[in-house]
Amino acid sequence: MNYFLTEEQQMIKDLAAKIADEKIAPVAIEYDEEGKFPHDIVKILADSDLCGVYVPEEYGGLGGGTFEMALVVEQLSRACGGIALAFAGTGLGAFPILLFGNDEQKKKHLPDIASGKKLAAFGLTEANAGSDAAGIQTKADLDGDHYVLNGTKQWITNGGEADIYTVIACTDKTRGARGFSAFIVEKGAPGFSFGKKENKMGIRASCTAELVFEDCRIPKENLLAKEGMGFIVAMKTLDRTRPGVAAQALGIAQGAFDAAIKYARTRVQFGQTIDSFQAIQHMLADMSIQIEASRSLLYQTCRHIDSGAKHISKESAMCKVMASDTAMKVTTDAVQILGGYGYMKEYPVEKMMRDAKITQIYEGTNQIQRNIIALELIKEQISR
Ligand SMILES: Cc1cc2nc3c(=O)[nH]c(=O)nc-3n(C[C@H](O)[C@H](O)[C@H](O)COP(=O)(O)OP(=O)(O)OC[C@H]3O[C@@H](n4cnc5c(N)ncnc54)[C@H](O)[C@@H]3O)c2cc1C
Repeated sequence: MNYFLTEEQQMIKDLAAKIADEKIAPVAIEYDEEGKFPHDIVKILADSDLCGVYVPEEYGGLGGGTFEMALVVEQLSRACGGIALAFAGTGLGAFPILLFGNDEQKKKHLPDIASGKKLAAFGLTEANAGSDAAGIQTKADLDGDHYVLNGTKQWITNGGEADIYTVIACTDKTRGARGFSAFIVEKGAPGFSFGKKENKMGIRASCTAELVFEDCRIPKENLLAKEGMGFIVAMKTLDRTRPGVAAQALGIAQGAFDAAIKYARTRVQFGQTIDSFQAIQHMLADMSIQIEASRSLLYQTCRHIDSGAKHISKESAMCKVMASDTAMKVTTDAVQILGGYGYMKEYPVEKMMRDAKITQIYEGTNQIQRNIIALELIKEQISR
């Protein structure tokens, strides 16, 4: 299918694909088993200028948007969904600054993100506030020229590895979600430490950790936007980064499909390669249909977002649901096509099946995405 990428987009895609094939695929299983963070791959991405594809040129990036970010995430995820997350998780941490940072905050942080010198992370979730993000307890109290943060964020991607954290905390308990504010917290801030590092089912090359704030003092200039806008910062960020999850899911699905068709062409049973059995052919056809449909919706959503469209929540949620449900189905079918070999760690598809699952869960579960889509559909009906 021709997706009519611009020359620059095609170059970005090809470069990311080359890194995925030559540098990531050979180490993906090892990094998964050891739960090793991909510092060396981040360095390769940085040296290739890919870290800043979505950062404006004035802050040292390539000036692309959601689409360019998705193209990179998709290609890297074809080889390893976990390694790709060092890049995608940084996007999640960077977007609040891109969208709501003032010029000083952008000048201070975006060039380091664009050059790959620093990784970023986004801290919203807490032990008792997942889907119900309005239930967060971490608080930030203004004390002279500083905010003082107290609380713990859970399951934060790039936690401990990133230098720049955008954190949502409560500045006014009486106002519910309207009392939340967003802050930039740098690694090394007094009172900021890292807690439990998670041992996960999949995306094991990604680091997922607790952020602990104990009387953590940050300059009041680290407030993003205004007090009370934290929930909006979080929701508008997620609208722009969910296509990144869709791209991760799509890449994982494509990687599993590629492995499955290659295997089906060489595995002989009953005196013929298994790709001659119609049962296998139909599975391959269905996998391919789902992948292409996900890619079409993702790319079109990215174009919609990058055009500056005002309403993007529904489209963003739709492409995340579509691609992540596809990733789960396609990777499961890929294991089936490889039979017992698919269940073994020597072959890549069991890892892909484990990696795919998270895409249905984080940045809002697919149940929550369906709630968002339905709400937007109803709003559209009412306003007609
Ligand atoms: C590996 C990993 C990395 C993560 N990275 C980050 C990160 O970088 N930053 C960050 O802030 N967070 C991160 N998260 C948190 C993630 O976004 C949450 O796990 C997710 O939003 C779901 O919250 P929960 O796990 O508490 O599930 P819960 O909210 O407890 O949900 C449990 C189940 O109930 C369902 N459910 C809940 N409410 C409803 C409802 N209203 N309608 C229908 N069904 C409902 C859910 O869909 C789910 O199936 C990460 C999580 C993981 C596992």
